[in-house]
Amino acid sequence: MWLRMLMHLIELQRNQRLKPSELTKVQHKRLRAIIRHAYFNIKFYHEKFKAAEVKPDDIKTVQDLPKIPVTTKSEVRNAFRAKTIVDGKIDLSKCHLARTSGSSGDPLIVVYDEKAEDFQKAVAVRSFLEAGCHFYDKWVAISSPQRAARKKRWFQRLRLLSPLWLSLFDPPEHHIEALRRIKPDVLEGYFSSIWLIARKMREDAITDIRPRVVIGSAEVLTEKAREFINSTFGVEIYDQFGCVEVGRSAWECEEHDGWHMDVDALAIEFVKDNEQVASGEEGRLLYTTMYNHAMPLIRYDVGDLCIPTDEMCPCGRVLPLIKHIEGRTDDFVTTPDGRVFSPIIWTILMRAIPGIANFRIVQEARSKLTVQLVKDSDFSSKTPSQIESAIQKTLGDIQVKVEQMEELPREKTGKIRSVISKVKVK
Ligand SMILES: [Zn+2]
Repeated sequence: MWLRMLMHLIELQRNQRLKPSELTKVQHKRLRAIIRHAYFNIKFYHEKFKAAEVKPDDIKTVQDLPKIPVTTKSEVRNAFRAKTIVDGKIDLSKCHLARTSGSSGDPLIVVYDEKAEDFQKAVAVRSFLEAGCHFYDKWVAISSPQRAARKKRWFQRLRLLSPLWLSLFDPPEHHIEALRRIKPDVLEGYFSSIWLIARKMREDAITDIRPRVVIGSAEVLTEKAREFINSTFGVEIYDQFGCVEVGRSAWECEEHDGWHMDVDALAIEFVKDNEQVASGEEGRLLYTTMYNHAMPLIRYDVGDLCIPTDEMCPCGRVLPLIKHIEGRTDDFVTTPDGRVFSPIIWTILMRAIPGIANFRIVQEARSKLTVQLVKDSDFSSKTPSQIESAIQKTLGDIQVKVEQMEELPREKTGKIRSVISKVKVK
């Protein structure tokens, strides 16, 4: 419903200019409502609260949340399969199902009712407007091929905030050709795709692609890569942060000095040993979605490490800041014929194949690649050959070995690096 989204957007725009105490009031009102809803209507949370001897009235503020145990990805996956985490009164046929393979390849489904989808969309639109986008901008987004095929929403039919989609599977020279032709005001994409375009532009001395706004997301790049992109396009890239499970959660303003958190949509905690860390200390990021009644997530552990700060942003927006996001360090893969692929392609390729609970790609040499995987109940004897042909179709003549594992090896941070390449990108 376009009107509902617009109303949410107006409210969200106003929230960021409230006094801090007023913003907290808005947040806590929403938090209490979703906690009550989860306790009385969502079996999974009712049982979780009961086991921890927590009643809805015990949770009045974000600071009270550690009384409730954390919700893990595998709990969400299992509860979804057991039909205990979705509100039984919701008509699923009217809902949007967000399916993610996440940063580590674990597939997971989150159900959004129509109201939640509108609210989430408004949260995303706020972050775009605050990055300097206008409703009628000419917009190019580099994303998965499936995105382009999605049903257009009302505002996209009117060509408001409506990107032209380019597939991230296409080589950067195709993107560059399209960008020169379209001359977009806004270029949006995964950081790695934008970096590949910038690299090719430098190589070929191309200087006539000048979007007014460049927005990157989904991966955390080094300062060096960020500067490389900025100087190539002649503007400062806006980094936006979030995940499929909760949508947009934090974004940069024109100060580029941290990420403003959408605390009027999400209760966001940073914890170490289940204690909320102080400003300037690193903690595990936990999300509580305060607007999705179909399938609330409470203290959902997305697996990211961040440093929050209580310093206010000089821009005057009252939404608090994340100071640092611990980077994912997935590698680019170079094929035998010299094409370079962004790490993000793997989640898309693997998501299309049933039977994979989790995966890791290790490229030993240009023409040799191993897929390590943990199987799920849909795994069959056909899965390895499906993987092999999907990879060869995209990457060309490359030897693929599939290795089944009980568990994937983790980095020191506890994260799984999804793509490791021993072939360095030139
Ligand atoms: Zn700011």
